[in-house]
Amino acid sequence: MRIQTIDVFPLRLPMKAVLTLPRGPSRTLDEGKRTALVRITDSDGNVGWGEASPSRRWSAETMESAVSSIREYLAPALIGHDVFDLAGAHAKMNQELASGLDPGQPIAKSGVDIALHDLIGKRLGISVQDWLGAKRVDRIPLARLVSAATPEEAARITTAGVAEGYQGFKVKVGHHKALDADIVRAVVDAAQGAFVWPDANQGYALEEALRMARAFERCGVTLFEQPVAMSDVYAMRKLLSSCGLTVALDEAAMGMPYVIELIRRDAVEGLAIKVSKVGGLHYARQMCDLALNAGLALIGSGLMDAPIGFAASIHLFAAYGITLPVDLNGPQFIAEDYLARPLPIERQVARVPQAPGLGIEIDAAKLERFALDV
Ligand SMILES: [Mg+2]
Repeated sequence: MRIQTIDVFPLRLPMKAVLTLPRGPSRTLDEGKRTALVRITDSDGNVGWGEASPSRRWSAETMESAVSSIREYLAPALIGHDVFDLAGAHAKMNQELASGLDPGQPIAKSGVDIALHDLIGKRLGISVQDWLGAKRVDRIPLARLVSAATPEEAARITTAGVAEGYQGFKVKVGHHKALDADIVRAVVDAAQGAFVWPDANQGYALEEALRMARAFERCGVTLFEQPVAMSDVYAMRKLLSSCGLTVALDEAAMGMPYVIELIRRDAVEGLAIKVSKVGGLHYARQMCDLALNAGLALIGSGLMDAPIGFAASIHLFAAYGITLPVDLNGPQFIAEDYLARPLPIERQVARVPQAPGLGIEIDAAKLERFALDV
């Protein structure tokens, strides 16, 4: 039951649209959705699939860095390692690529981590959710991401989203600052009671964030994601004590040591969980446990995950009973993927796949079709 080989398959998936963040478009349409699939084969011939899917304008990793880090550093360190020793595998990965305030190239590490979880599930004949040992829910509602330049555009997107079945809307704010409150109000008005929350991706200074929090609260919003810079502990504390909204941290919640420090300083009351940004399911589940035990709100999120990252997230979110609609927006942006059968999503509600491991099947022909030379 030892790791025999680790192979990396860089892919470029065609996209329907690009996402715009306060710092600019997350990528170009031509660039496509770039993701590196990781295949781990054990000494008995069992196979697990993971993926490393960097969003270079969100965190520091690139497709090129993820591919070379896995091929040149992580894979060689793990050949011969016991498949079931996840903690030991992470210790080896952290020895090769040091962790600091963030987990040190977490997206590359998460590709390996997800493949190991898939492999363990397949070996045992159980789903990843079963492996996580909690069955709080078996369905996860998806949120529609709204990134609009005007309130009218935001209302149009929301109305169409309600018709498609979305029960939640996450609104990107911070890049049309004068219009942000009107954009959020337009979404709330069009959402017909669906859950709406703004995400500023660190786009506001403290004074702006305080003003916007009051404006969003008047719209009926109850949750505000990452309003200020991840390093600004003073601003996070000030916001918590001054506004009635739950402030959830995303970019600030990449590594366990920093989150623990924020808890000690009364600077956090909610966490956005992303499997990839923390280095995979091994650390994501620890962060969920920490949040639940510390009484923090949990929201589910992702980095425009392709199906492997999407499925890993669904297993985790279902295990931890995340009931608010989650921002797993891969299906909203990715036009075609590498699956043999589509993910079980109906009216924007994802079911937890029940087959062993992640419960998905890769189409080898599609890996060739979307192959990218890195
Ligand atoms: Mg976010």
